[in-house]
Parts: sequence; C-alpha cells; structure tokens
Amino acid sequence: MGNKLIITIDGPAGAGKSTVSKILAKNLDYVYLDTGALYRALAYNALKKKISVEDVSALANLCSTTTVVLKNIDGRMKVYVDGEDVEEKIRTEEVSMAASKISTYAVVREKLLNLQREAGAQGGIVAEGRDMGSVVFPNADYKFYLDAQLEERIKRRYKELLEKGAPVEYQSVQKDMLVRDKQDKERKVAPLIIPEGAVIIDSDNLTVQGVVEEITSYISIK
Ligand code: C5P
Repeated sequence: MGNKLIITIDGPAGAGKSTVSKILAKNLDYVYLDTGALYRALAYNALKKKISVEDVSALANLCSTTTVVLKNIDGRMKVYVDGEDVEEKIRTEEVSMAASKISTYAVVREKLLNLQREAGAQGGIVAEGRDMGSVVFPNADYKFYLDAQLEERIKRRYKELLEKGAPVEYQSVQKDMLVRDKQDKERKVAPLIIPEGAVIIDSDNLTVQGVVEEITSYISIK
C-alpha cells in the first residue's frame, strides 16, 4: 500500500480546501481531517450555552468541561461534542464567525492540538485548516497552501450558503469573509501563514479536478 503520508492543506476560507481535500483523501484511500470543524464544534457549543465569544475565562472553562471526540466514519473524521453529532449544525455563518473569534485564543487551540496530532499519528491523512503545515504537522510529508482571489472566495461561500437554503446576502458574506481573513491572518497564536516548504496553489483559474491533479502531481508514495 506504500507509505502512509501526512499531507497538509492550508489556506483562507473559500479557497476550496474541503472539496479538494476530500477528493484527494478518497483517491489515496487516506483519512480526511477537517480541522475547521473542531473549532466550529466548540464555537457551536459556546453559542448553545450562551457563552460570549469575547469571554475568554468562560471559554476556558467550557474547554475544560467539554469532550471533543473524532470518529473515523468511512474515511472522514467526524466531530462529536459531549456525544452530540454536530456536523449539520456547524456550517452556518453565525458559527463561522464564532469559530474564527474563539480560534484566536490559545486555550482553545491547546484544547484541540493533541486531538489533531493523534488523528495523524499513524499517517495516511489529508489534514486541512489554517495551521496544519506550520503548527500541527510541521514535519508533514507534503504541504500545500491553497489560495484564490478574495472576490472568488466570497462568490463560492455565497453560493455554498444559497445551496444550503440559508437566508443569505452577498454583502454580509463579503463583510464576514473580510473579518475572518483578518482575524485568521493577524491572530497571535498559530495565524494563517504559508507554511515553510509549502507548495502554493492558486485555484482561481482551475477546476476542482484541476487542483486535485496539480496537488497529486507533487505526491510520490513509495
Ligand atoms: O475551515 P473553516 O472555515 O471551517 O474554519 C472555521 C474557522 O476555524 C476559521 O475561520 C479559523 O478561524 C478556524 N480554524 C483555525 N485553525 C484551523 C482550522 C480552522 O483557526 N486549523
């Protein structure tokens, strides 16, 4: 079957990381880890418990009392929070914004760090997020940074929300994307950066399949 590698894909919201990572993991028969789902799951729990995303000490308390578990369901690591399958509830704009805010806090990132590393401990994983190649898996076998123009990323996110039937306005998606980009790139702990050694891929003029092919062209499994 060849070596079980760790492949990381970082990049901003709307760059196409999830779609591409899922296909790549399937093609390689690897596990797919969506680390944004972990931050979203904790954010969802905070919102559910009416904890303000500004209240760091209440969030620290929430982190120490919340059980977050990843389960491999058909090659995809699914997130459970205190036993609850939160998959369907964490994809709203409200949760996106709350996840971006709480992910700036060290206590939140520490809570999720080992969980992510354990998921990749055996290799055979495609892990996507913001700090995969820089912090979580600095020794990954292959690192990619997937990017696209801001306008394109806003359009993709808008379309995605429309398709889910969410009440959505283009301008609010645009505003949220700008806030999220700034927060993710400028935070002190594990900001979104191009990890050392990462191959940069611009998805603007590529189809999903084109991005997958480009990434695959770099990967050699011995
Ligand atoms: O990728 P996704 O949009 O689902 O991520 C939601 C939020 O979680 C991001 O805006 C980011 O703030 C945070 N995140 C992070 N580190 C990761 C993955 C996601 O800080 N590795």
